[in-house]
Amino acid sequence: VLAKTFTATVVGLQAIKIEVEVDGNRGVPTLLIIGLPTKTVDEAKQRITAALINCGIRIRSKRTIVNLAPADIKKTGSGFELAIAVALLKMYGEVKQDTDDTLFFGELSLDGSLKPIKGALPLVLAASQLGFKQVVLPESNRAEVSTVTSIKIILLSHLQQYLDASKQGFSLPGMTPKKFLQPSRMSSWLDGFDQIIGQTTAKRAIEIAVTGQHNLLLVGPPGAGKSLLAKAAHQLMPPLTQAESLEVSAIYSVCGLTMDGLVTERPFRAPHHSTSKLGLIGGGSQLKPGEIALAHRGILFLDELPEFNRSTIESLRQPLEAGLITFARNNGSVTYPTKFTLIAAANPCPCGFHNSPIHTCRCSLHTLSQYQQKISGPILDRIDLHMFVNAVKIPELTSSLGNAAGSELPPNSADAVIKRIVAAQQQRLERSISQLTQKNMSSNNPESVNAMLLTAEAKKLLHQACNSLQLSARAFFKVIKVSRTIADLSLSERVEPEHVAEALQYRRTHF
Ligand SMILES: [Zn+2]
Repeated sequence: VLAKTFTATVVGLQAIKIEVEVDGNRGVPTLLIIGLPTKTVDEAKQRITAALINCGIRIRSKRTIVNLAPADIKKTGSGFELAIAVALLKMYGEVKQDTDDTLFFGELSLDGSLKPIKGALPLVLAASQLGFKQVVLPESNRAEVSTVTSIKIILLSHLQQYLDASKQGFSLPGMTPKKFLQPSRMSSWLDGFDQIIGQTTAKRAIEIAVTGQHNLLLVGPPGAGKSLLAKAAHQLMPPLTQAESLEVSAIYSVCGLTMDGLVTERPFRAPHHSTSKLGLIGGGSQLKPGEIALAHRGILFLDELPEFNRSTIESLRQPLEAGLITFARNNGSVTYPTKFTLIAAANPCPCGFHNSPIHTCRCSLHTLSQYQQKISGPILDRIDLHMFVNAVKIPELTSSLGNAAGSELPPNSADAVIKRIVAAQQQRLERSISQLTQKNMSSNNPESVNAMLLTAEAKKLLHQACNSLQLSARAFFKVIKVSRTIADLSLSERVEPEHVAEALQYRRTHF
């Protein structure tokens, strides 16, 4: 007797169809599972057998072979158990209907109830492309798939439900999808930004970083509020759109982090400097996403950047540049998106007071240069905005409070900044759409220098600065991009010399 069912697994974020075939013959009664790692097989055998018995199924005394194909795909986790159980039920004649259009997912408990699987979201999103019409999934995965409309989703909490429906010959109803609700900005989100007193230039740098997704390095003494500024940047970011939310949630789903539902707030990841390369970048034998993928569409905050392992930081170069990370494996490769905004913070020296107007630095020239060499030039080169943050002095505190007490929207309040960011991003979007549709442009790439629309004067200033500051080609292009963002923030169609001049200020490294 031969029976088969279908399930799937994720490799990276990509879903791959798995065929489960069972065959029963005369011979010594055994259950053999081929195509799973040994440890998983033993546990799966026990759970599947117990679950079937607890659903009142008599295990037939046969030599039973279960084969999971293709063999060369590494299958991890216990999400295939439901598919194996249903295949056995088909072989026993307990389930008679055709299941060729159905994908089964779920780990079985000994009593037959179903436990959630990791990666449910990318699997369900890919199901119709894989040629299936419906997906059977544990009820406990409901929250993360609740907005999916592309396929019929049947949610089960117990194997018995499937058996009963099948015996009575009716098909189980599909889940009614919920509408995606974009979270509105809550006023509590804005507290952080407005609670930072003074720091006008640092706040301006954050506004620019958020608008153009530019990477930012904050250098300053301990207690200058670098972490607060990074969190404030997160608060200024617009909510995720539905497409972005699904994209981010798929990554979290693979890690089993979406049991409460979709990720709707932009990620803010702040891994400690002791984090391993595997933890930060991802990969390893499991090809897992690291912090940089979990920060996709949000902020990656690296506090005390020089304390991170140097080679770990070096491996940020490619994902920073490309917006994705690829891990090679035997048969192909796995890619995760990594379009995060990097905000890094560092003390200017080991004691923290190098260049401080108040305290004297106690570090020797040797320790200072050793410390500063911990961050390589290529990484500094990839940072668009360099900012020195000082501890706020008392007079600045009072004057700033005076401003905030004024009548209308203070120009640097969170509300005002968010308004500017939204307007600037709208202008960017409209420009790139119109440039993509203008076929006669010298370059169709909205990222090209021509597309940035610099005035002749702005270009002149840029070339002068480039010569005197000896900017690298990469730094040169970064200045142009930051200038473009600054121009967008003042809703200027063209990049003027003043925008270039401001962008150049953020190019002064403090290392
Ligand atoms: Zn020092």
